[in-house]
Amino acid sequence: MSTSLPLEIAEFHGDGISSELSAAVHAVADALPIDITFHDVDLTLERRRTDAESSYDDAEKAMRKCRVAMKYPTVTEDASPNKVLRDRFDFSVIHRPVATIPGVETRIRGTVDLHVVRIATGGTYEDPGRRIGVDSAISIRLIERRPSFQASMFAFKLAEKIGANVTSASKYTIQRNTDSLFEEVAAGVAQKFPNVGHESELFDALLAKLIMNPEGYRVVVTPNEYGDFLSDAACGMIGSIGLGASASYSFDNDGNILLAMFDPAGGTAPDIAGKGLCNPSAALWAFSMLLDHVGQCELGAKLDAAVRSVISSGNTTRDLGGSLNTEQFTKAVVLEMG
Ligand code: ATP
Repeated sequence: MSTSLPLEIAEFHGDGISSELSAAVHAVADALPIDITFHDVDLTLERRRTDAESSYDDAEKAMRKCRVAMKYPTVTEDASPNKVLRDRFDFSVIHRPVATIPGVETRIRGTVDLHVVRIATGGTYEDPGRRIGVDSAISIRLIERRPSFQASMFAFKLAEKIGANVTSASKYTIQRNTDSLFEEVAAGVAQKFPNVGHESELFDALLAKLIMNPEGYRVVVTPNEYGDFLSDAACGMIGSIGLGASASYSFDNDGNILLAMFDPAGGTAPDIAGKGLCNPSAALWAFSMLLDHVGQCELGAKLDAAVRSVISSGNTTRDLGGSLNTEQFTKAVVLEMG
């Protein structure tokens, strides 16, 4: 999607370290050579406790206007804000890039540069299940053609752009009806991309092979829960479970991205909130994904690289063994971007 300036971004404020992450994003945005207007939406727990519906209405209004949003961590009390937003915006695909961060210690040899693309709905996550008597419980697992198609299309377009192959991963030999439907759709989409290689892997084998040969995988598309497992496993491989960024997308009937929301994957970190100690890297990477999405690809790449470069120089926040506070780290990133 290309954009005419100024760029308008809905900004969903949450809890804990949310305001510090937002301040870091604003510091970077202020230093960019483009006009950006943020449309603030208060999604703090305090507001949601008294005024949940209207806080989500505000989020929806801002999102429909801007079509792109930054979201910061929110506490889940009753309803999960992430689920409410996903339902309201009809998000069907989640994209989580996970790449080795130079300077961050890992237990795995090799370099990870992986894009996890997952269906955002269904799988085992939609139905909490029910107890049958005392000793049994069941839940229904849902795989649908439409989000399988959208996730596969997203994965193949991404792979085409970066010159990679696509691996679709599931348990199609066991889940013969559900996961076979997903694989059937992925294979159908593969035929539209004759220049992009495609292979299906059993999900358990994929995990083992990824650990043994991280360079062998660039774009993996999966049903909901497998993608969730895979992105956390991949984050473990790069030594930083809380440093990932994530994008959620909805699509129009022609398959174009309609709405896009970008967020740091970590939580609200109440133990360090308000102390200037949090690491804003994931929020800045989420912002770089947003810039890329709106057509500011060069700026997005520059921001992504600047964060990596500052971390690898050892100038990091306390969680990575450094001594910078959030503001100092952000300043270093701005300086690195030139
Ligand atoms: P939530 O309930 O929102 O998930 P949590 O504290 O249970 O909050 P996280 O927010 O993921 O879970 O935090 C886990 C640990 O990681 C905490 O010790 C927290 O301080 C640390 N942490 C999380 N995010 C960051 C960050 N951006 N920078 C530095 N440390 C962080």
